[in-house]
Amino acid sequence: MNRRQFMCTAAGAAAAGAATFARVRDALAASYDLVIRGGRVIDPSVGLDAVRDVAIAAGRIADTIDARGKIVAPGLIDIHTHAAREKEGPRICLQDGVTGWVDCGSAGADNIDQIAAVARTAPQIGRVLVNISRTGNAGEGELIDINRADVGLARGAIARHRDVVIGVKARLSVPIAGPNDLEGLRLAQEAAAPFNLPVMIHMGQSFSPLRAILPLLKRRDIVTHMYAPAPNGILDDAGRLFPDVEAARRRGVIFDLGNGGNGHLSWDVVERATKQGFWPDTLSTDWTANSRDNPGVVDFPNVMSKFIMLGMPLGQVIAGATVNAARVFPAFDDRGALNIGAPADVAIMELREGTFEFVDNYKGTRTGRQRLFPIATVFAGKRTPARA
Ligand SMILES: [Zn+2]
Repeated sequence: MNRRQFMCTAAGAAAAGAATFARVRDALAASYDLVIRGGRVIDPSVGLDAVRDVAIAAGRIADTIDARGKIVAPGLIDIHTHAAREKEGPRICLQDGVTGWVDCGSAGADNIDQIAAVARTAPQIGRVLVNISRTGNAGEGELIDINRADVGLARGAIARHRDVVIGVKARLSVPIAGPNDLEGLRLAQEAAAPFNLPVMIHMGQSFSPLRAILPLLKRRDIVTHMYAPAPNGILDDAGRLFPDVEAARRRGVIFDLGNGGNGHLSWDVVERATKQGFWPDTLSTDWTANSRDNPGVVDFPNVMSKFIMLGMPLGQVIAGATVNAARVFPAFDDRGALNIGAPADVAIMELREGTFEFVDNYKGTRTGRQRLFPIATVFAGKRTPARA
């Protein structure tokens, strides 16, 4: 915590958008812009899980949100989406509690300008990973022709959009890269190196085994679709986690869920891996503007709820969608927390009890007893329009 920010907040004169935990007294309440009252505040970044009011400082109270019976968490950060593919994408996911997102590889050097423009004008923090293939994600497979992985063009795209491009993406499955997975990844690293940016790989069903791919990843690089089924997933033929996978995590490679819609998530792999203690560092959706129509995705709170069902403690589920995600990219390093002085990005959700069906990417279903529903979102101290 920054002491000066704390002192200012305590005096009611903090910079706009700062959040503070408090049992806000009415006498003081007039000095806050927004008070979220009586919710169960879960902020894993400071180990807090308690009923609190959250006060947002500067000026006067403009609004009060009654959060009794709700969960008040830091704004959600979804580090694998395609939110910038559609102009409407960012506005839709903001309603789901997403106050920060990363569009991962929708565009390469040839079409990054448009994606970067959507990120820049998003109503929350939008950032982009440039695809190492100049075409970006392509149905025919953007790395089948390895000449599309042009390091010079990718570096140029990063240089043009340093304000929003925060890494490089490479998709390595056979239908996308053919036998070019290792070369595609090597070129992605070459493009990222002068900017000191991370690379995110889309794993699973690759030509090369994971044990050949992982050594090409550096600390803070990200493996998404971590529970992709064989061939070349994280489990051996007997269902045991490869030691190389745990070794990669130990040296700082990040394993991300990347829920997705097709071919990336199977209950069988998730259950075998989590039974061996291999949980995601970060949760993410692989979201698009059409995800609400996909029962396997719907929204970020639904994807998070899958891990509540699997037995991950609620605080860890929220950490995977907030503070852990914020730590992956420096662009989010002051986010993912509600402590004093933090930017006031808040996701208010309801944890409903009932019978809920959760779907993997193979129409496999599991039934859970709880599901998180998005209720309201606050970004930079302002309540955003609710979901219809
Ligand atoms: Zn994706």
